[in-house]
This record gives sequence, structure tokens and C-alpha cells, in this order.
Amino acid sequence: MRNIDNQKMTRREVMFRGAQVAAGAALARPVSMLAAATSAPPLIGIQIGAVSFVDEGVNKVLDILQEKGAVNTLFISSFTYDAGTGGRQVKGRPLPDHGKQEYDNFHGGNFATPHARFYSDTVLNDTKAPDHGDLDIFEMVLPEARKRGMKVYAWDYNIFRTDIPHVDEIEEVDIFGNKASTCCALNPDYQHFIVDLIRDHCTSYPIDGVMWGAEQQGPLDNVINSNINPHPGTCFCKFHRKEAAARGIDVQRALEGYRRLAAFTKQAGANQRPVDGYFVEFWRIMVEFPEILAWEKLWNDGKYGTFKDIYKTAKSVRADLQVGFHIWHTASFSPFFRAEQDFAMFTENADYLKPVLYNNCAGPRYASYIDRMGDSIFHDLKPDQLEKMNDAFLNYEGMGLDLKSLPKSGLPAEYVFRETKRSLDSVRGKCKIYPGIDIDIPTALDDKQTSPDDVYGATLAALKAGAEGVILSRKYSEMKLENLAGAGRAVKTYKA
Ligand SMILES: [Zn+2]
Repeated sequence: MRNIDNQKMTRREVMFRGAQVAAGAALARPVSMLAAATSAPPLIGIQIGAVSFVDEGVNKVLDILQEKGAVNTLFISSFTYDAGTGGRQVKGRPLPDHGKQEYDNFHGGNFATPHARFYSDTVLNDTKAPDHGDLDIFEMVLPEARKRGMKVYAWDYNIFRTDIPHVDEIEEVDIFGNKASTCCALNPDYQHFIVDLIRDHCTSYPIDGVMWGAEQQGPLDNVINSNINPHPGTCFCKFHRKEAAARGIDVQRALEGYRRLAAFTKQAGANQRPVDGYFVEFWRIMVEFPEILAWEKLWNDGKYGTFKDIYKTAKSVRADLQVGFHIWHTASFSPFFRAEQDFAMFTENADYLKPVLYNNCAGPRYASYIDRMGDSIFHDLKPDQLEKMNDAFLNYEGMGLDLKSLPKSGLPAEYVFRETKRSLDSVRGKCKIYPGIDIDIPTALDDKQTSPDDVYGATLAALKAGAEGVILSRKYSEMKLENLAGAGRAVKTYKA
């Protein structure tokens, strides 16, 4: 099992190193490298799944990406069980004006070749995606991308199907002792698998980098920000219990605290006001059970440990491999989750971060967040009041947001600009920022849809705010070509 105390020491060492840099005594990275990085042409990345190359042909797809989107870097969805990042299109949403005109039955897995010798220390040794037979997506795309001078990154995503062999052995355990459908970051079989996967991708193929994404949050965030009441906060498996005990956290008290919190949010969802009100009751539970926050940190440290393992593994294969992380959209809505995404700390194990700044689907997603929190710890507030308070927490004031129209309006390009700036201010040149740009990410049919000008505005806002690049998301097979062209137009405007 990963030794979390060692991580802390490493962090202190790095902080000390940071102090030395400030004092001019030593430089973790030469200033000249940072200066060169800022003057380099922007990375224009796009997320893309194997299905697009199979549907349309490698060279045709690359022509379109270069001509319309000014794309110079592919983030190939190489390991994913999520139809959202690896499938063609969500059923019921319009198929775009390219690719096969039918919905797919996505299975997912590893779209490259899982080389058996890398997976000898994990039960998860059967992950080859069956979707396209023996197809190896890197062998298919890398040679053609190279000829054009395009870079290729592996884009690996932390969602597992519940029906793949042995997945039950790495699943999290909730506060009621039930298995959850998420993976436990302290489980050795999971830890080994992630390291094996990254080592396999980085060793077996001449890729330029990797991006890892895990859209998961800790038990506190899950219990208070949930449309399932009570949410089964995780993880209380034997590995988490053991690490908790090593930290001096009382497991039973933590469980009792979380069960109280879950019962309270259920009550709040049913409009049963506690005598002292919703927020006061919430905070009373937090003070009574400080183990709740201790467990939240324990969980976050596990997730961050995965980041660290990935960075260390890729760099041990080739020091010039670029390693970065997809930061879940929830950081744009929840001040609680945002507080736990410490970009300054992430720079210790990242060459770049991709904060998800999908401004179109952010409209319905933000409204939905406000709705859930209004049924939970902030039930004392009216929805409009809650939205205004949250806007202030997140620096969204003065952008003209209105809760009622949010689902149909989306968020303005100004949101992309401000969040890019915030990200850059947090990392202070220690890693690059490539905001994720929304192109046709599915929303309900009567909610905000993407237009070419939306993409143009968001892309230009990110670049003007100082981002070293953008990543067009969430995948090519969902994008209308005229919307993709909005990104290309923004890049031209920016360079002019
Ligand atoms: Zn666990």
C-alpha cells in the first residue's frame, strides 16, 4: 500500500525546494525553460475516440482537425469505459454532420494493446476493448500524426464497468458496507493497474504525453452534494480503515458522523426543517464529528496519490513525457470541491492541468448544482439567494448570471477567461494550463446548445487570459464541424 506519510514528507521537501527557488538558491526548473514555454505556439488539443478514426479514416479525420480546428495535438481516448469519452454519441442526442449516422453500443476498455507483461501484479488484466476487434489505436494513428508533426497524448479515464472481470475486488465500500461502482485509490490492485497501464502506454508507444481523468469526489462532497439521498459516501474499505487507523482516526466515529450527515441530508431533501435550521444543523454535525473532515482528507490524499503514481511512472519511462490531469467540472460549481483541487499543490506532479471550463453545458450543470445544494445544507436559502452567494464564492459576480435562464443561456466566455486566469495565478508558471473547451457536449434538447460563436468566444477567452493551450472537448465524434471551425477561427484571430 502507498505510504501516505512519505507523500507528506515529499510535499514538505518540495515546499522547501520552492522556498529555495524564491531565495534564488536553486531552481527546480530553469527560468529559461519557463520563458520558452510561454512564447511557444499554443497547444491546440482535441479529445478523440477510436470510433472516429474507424468511422471516417485516419487521414480524413486529421485533415479536418487541422483545417477546421487548427488542432496540433491529439488526446486519444485510449483507456475508457465511459461512453462520454470513448463512444460515438449519446443515444437520443443529434448525430453530427460527419461519422457513421447511427448510435453505437459502446463497451470500452483499452483501445491500444494491453501487453500482458505489464499487468502481472494486478487482478485487472483483461481490459482490451472489444469494440473494434484487434484494433490498436496508437498503431493506427501515430505514424500518420507524426508525418504531419502532430503530437499524440494518451487520454486515460477512470471509469470502470461493473461487469468486467475482478472489478468487484477494487470497488469502494460505502458507509452502509455496500460495494459502490467507483474504484478505491488505496486498493493495491487498483494502484498497480494504473501504474501498469501508464507504463504500458508510455513504453510501448512513442507518445508525447498522458492525461488522466477521475471524476470522483470524497465522501463529504458526495453526501452533501447529491441527488441520491442519502448518498453512500465512500470509501470505508479495509484499506481505508487501515490507513485511517494509522492516522489516529476513529473509524466508528467517522462512520457514525457520516451516517448522521446522510440522515440529515435525507431529512433536508424531505423539507423537514431542524429546530435550528438546516445550515446550523449541518455545522453542528461537523463540529460534533471532526472525523468527517479527517476522512474527506484521507480520501483526497488517496486520489492525489494516484496523480503522483502516474507522474512518477511516466517520468521513469521518459523524462520528456508530458503528464497532466483533467480537472472535473464540479470545481466550477462547488466551492467545497474547488477547495480540494489545490492547483498549486498539483504542480508538484503535473506538467499541465486541464481545468474543465465547458461554458455551454455549464449552464444546466450549474443550475442543477444549485438545485441539489438547495435541497441539502443550504435549504434555508431561496434558490436565487443561494446562486448569488455561490457566484460570490466562485468569482462569478458581474457576469449577468440568472438562475432561471442559466440552463438555456450557458455561461459566458467571461467565465472561461476568469477561470483560466485563476488557474494560471494558482500554478504561477510551474505547470501549463490547457482549459477544456465545450464543443457540443450533450445537454437536454431544450437546454443550451453550442454555436460556432460560443466556441470562438471561449477559445479566444482562454488564449487571451494567457493559457498555454486549449483542449477541445469532450470528443470529436460529438462535434458539429461548423462549431469545431469556431475554434480554428479563434486561433487565427489570436495569432494575428
Ligand atoms: Zn477504500
